[in-house]
Amino acid sequence: MPQTARVYSYSAVLMGSPILLKLFEHNEALAADAFRLIKQYEDLLTVNRAASEVMDINHAAGRNPVAVSRPVFELVKCAKAASTVPGSAFNLAIGPLVKRWRIGFKGDSVPPAEEIAALLPRTRPENVVLDSDAGTVFLTQPGMEIDLGAIAKGYIADRVRDFLARRGVQQGLINLGGNVQTLGSPEGGWSIGLKKPFAAADALIGSIEVANKSVVTSGVYERFFEQDGRRYHHILDPRTGYPLDNELDSVTIVSTDSIDGDIWTTLAYGMGVEKGCRALRNRPDIEAIFVTKGGEVVLSSADLFRFTLLDDGYRLVTGSTA
Ligand code: FAD
Ligand code: MG
Repeated sequence: MPQTARVYSYSAVLMGSPILLKLFEHNEALAADAFRLIKQYEDLLTVNRAASEVMDINHAAGRNPVAVSRPVFELVKCAKAASTVPGSAFNLAIGPLVKRWRIGFKGDSVPPAEEIAALLPRTRPENVVLDSDAGTVFLTQPGMEIDLGAIAKGYIADRVRDFLARRGVQQGLINLGGNVQTLGSPEGGWSIGLKKPFAAADALIGSIEVANKSVVTSGVYERFFEQDGRRYHHILDPRTGYPLDNELDSVTIVSTDSIDGDIWTTLAYGMGVEKGCRALRNRPDIEAIFVTKGGEVVLSSADLFRFTLLDDGYRLVTGSTA
């Protein structure tokens, strides 16, 4: 790729998020097809409208199993597997709490403690029952709701990558608003900014260089509200029903597939730095960048990417010494 290679950017708003596609050729038709694909998945998976396949499952909670398309079945299966790992902070059945808190949407507020306590029993992932022969999903208790907000963008980013590859794209990037997936390696790799929490939108702590990798970030500063001097963000602790509260401002995961990145941002967020780094020692294919409230940037390891610190208010630490 010559130094002068021009990047063409295409943008859209889908899934309530800014979507950005970068290509090294001017190809509006291809961009339109990629956005159409995202829209098709949004229509299947959204819980922000009355109708979708996931809403069909939710509407039938406590009543009957619902036959769904293959992609929805596979994604629900994957989300359930991530949710039923002992101690997992990921929970696909978190829907009733997400809907009650409404964090990131109009009408957000801190629910009374007794309401949270009453909703928790409706969020048990074991009560999401899958039948692979029938291709059905059944929420066994009334009032249950699936929410794939912590995994669907990752899944969709991978589908866009596959689609672009099939259409002959060798170098490209799709950003679904926090979920970045890349094809190929422009010289020096793709440079992806690590956002500075609670700062200007373009303020960066550092840059992450990758090739053929996904970079997913989940942060407490993306969607939150404040009430009585306290901040409430959108990643809920399935054990308590309140926003996860620990030393972290954000977690970024670098991996091949963005679905792994999306799942692991939530898992690692729940584990915190020490446990997260330990868990990732068994996963050389997945690496994490933790940003702590205390101003540290902790890399679990850095074989899949190169990190450059840009803000000297932060201190860089590697997991082995953390
Ligand atoms: P992640 O940290 O990956 O996930 C956080 C989200 O997952 C939360 O917002 C919640 O939905 C859910 N969640 C919270 N706690 C947990 C937990 N412990 N385990 C599992 N899941 C949890 N936003 C809009 O404003 N308007 C829209 O119309 C809209 N439509 C969408 C349609 C689709 C198909 C998708 C995938 C997302 C849509 N969104 C929309 C965004 C959505 O509401 C979430 O905010 C977004 O998915 C969060 O992504 P993230 O990577 O920032 O967060
Ligand atoms: Mg996630």
